[in-house]
Amino acid sequence: MSVLGLTCTRCGAQYSLEPMFFGCPACAAKSESGAAALTVAYDYQAIASDLNVEDWGRAGHGIWRFDALLPLRDKAAQISLGEGNTALMRPRAVCEATGLSNLYIKNETTNPTWAFKDRFHASSVSMARSLGYSRVTASTTGNHGASAAAYCAAAEMDSCIILCHPESSMLQRDMIALYGGHAFVLEDRFQYLDTLIREHGYYPSTTMTPMPTGTPFGIEGYKTIAFEIFVQLGGRVPDRMFCPIAAGDALYGPWKGFSELRALNLVDRHPVMHGVQPEGCNPYVQSFRQGRGDVIVHPDPSSIALSIRDDTGGPLALGAIYDSGGDATDVTEDEIIEAVRLLARSGYLVEPSSAASVAGAIKAARAGRLTSNDTVVCLVTGSGAKWPEVMAELADRDAPVEPSWDEIKARTGLVGDTS
Ligand SMILES: [Zn+2]
Repeated sequence: MSVLGLTCTRCGAQYSLEPMFFGCPACAAKSESGAAALTVAYDYQAIASDLNVEDWGRAGHGIWRFDALLPLRDKAAQISLGEGNTALMRPRAVCEATGLSNLYIKNETTNPTWAFKDRFHASSVSMARSLGYSRVTASTTGNHGASAAAYCAAAEMDSCIILCHPESSMLQRDMIALYGGHAFVLEDRFQYLDTLIREHGYYPSTTMTPMPTGTPFGIEGYKTIAFEIFVQLGGRVPDRMFCPIAAGDALYGPWKGFSELRALNLVDRHPVMHGVQPEGCNPYVQSFRQGRGDVIVHPDPSSIALSIRDDTGGPLALGAIYDSGGDATDVTEDEIIEAVRLLARSGYLVEPSSAASVAGAIKAARAGRLTSNDTVVCLVTGSGAKWPEVMAELADRDAPVEPSWDEIKARTGLVGDTS
C-alpha cells in the first residue's frame, strides 16, 4: 500500500487515513502548543518501484495521471473537470521588463473555474465521496468557494455550503449559486464552519490556518503543479519558484511535490521557494525577517489582492521557505498593479493576487538577485475575469466618444487616409 496514512507535521505521530479535520490529537492534548496540521504520508520506495514517469507526460484525466502520489485509493470515486495540464509560458512583456529569458508563468487561469483551486477540490471532494460524505462546506474569499461548488456539482453532493468573505466578488457568489451551492457572507466564518463539521456531518473542503481545521487531502492536489513543471521542463525542476502566499498552501503544496520528486530519486535538487505578499498584509514576511517558526497575526491587513489578504497563515509554508533556502518578500500595491499590467500586455489577464508572484520576481530581478541563467517559475493562481470590479479599476478605458475617424486617430496614433 503506497499511502501510509496521516502524519503530524509537528510531532510525527501517525494515524490511519480517516476523516481527521482538527489536526493532531496528540499535539492538541498538549495545551501549551495547540493542535498541529496533519499531512498524507506515502511509501516512496514502493511508489518508485511501480512508477512510470513516461505516463506523466501524456495528456489525460486531470490530476489523476499522478494518482500514485494522491491519497485517493478508490478509482471509482475520482472526480475531474479536466483540471491541471496548465501551460508553462514565457510572458513576453515581463521577460522584457526583467531581462530574464527563462522566466515562466505556470498559468493556472485555464483551470475549469479559472483558478488553481480546482486541483485542491479534485483531490479533496473525491476523498469526501470516497469517505461517504454527501455534504461539503468551505470558507472562501471567492476562488476557493467557487471551485468547491463546481466539484460538489460534479460529485453530485447533496449539499454545498460556502462561507464567503464580506468582500468576495459578486460574480463568484453567483458562480457558487449556479453550480448548485449556497453562498453565505459572514464575518466570523470559523464558528459556522466548526458547527457544520462537528454537528451536521459536513466535510470541510477547506483549510483554515493557523488552526489546522479542514481537510489534509486538498493540498495533495497542489503537488501536481510541481509534477507538471518537472515534465514541462524536460525532467528537471526550476532554480527558483515564486508563489503568492495567503494561508501558505500555494507554496507548501508545490513544495511538497518537489520534495516528493527528490524522495522518488527523480531529481537530486529542489527549487528555492520565494513567498510573496503585499506590503499591506505581510505576516509571513515579518515572521521570516524575525526568524520565527510560527506566523504572526497582522493587525490590519489591506491590499487590492484580496485572495492573499489573510492576516496570518500556517507554519508549513514558512518551513518550506527555510528548508529551500528561500525567502518571504513583500511588494507594494503599485508593484502588484504593474505586474497585472505587464501580464495583460503579455496576453494574460490575472487577478492582483496572482500577479503578486510575478511582482516578486520583477523586484528580485531589479535588485540583481536573479540572472538570465536562472530558470524562474511564477505561480499565477487565478484569472482576472472573475474580479470584474477590480479589472474595471485597473483598466485605462477609452472614455466613450461619438465614433469618428478624427477621434480614433487622436487616441491611437492611426495615420493615413480613412475616408
Ligand atoms: Zn502531533
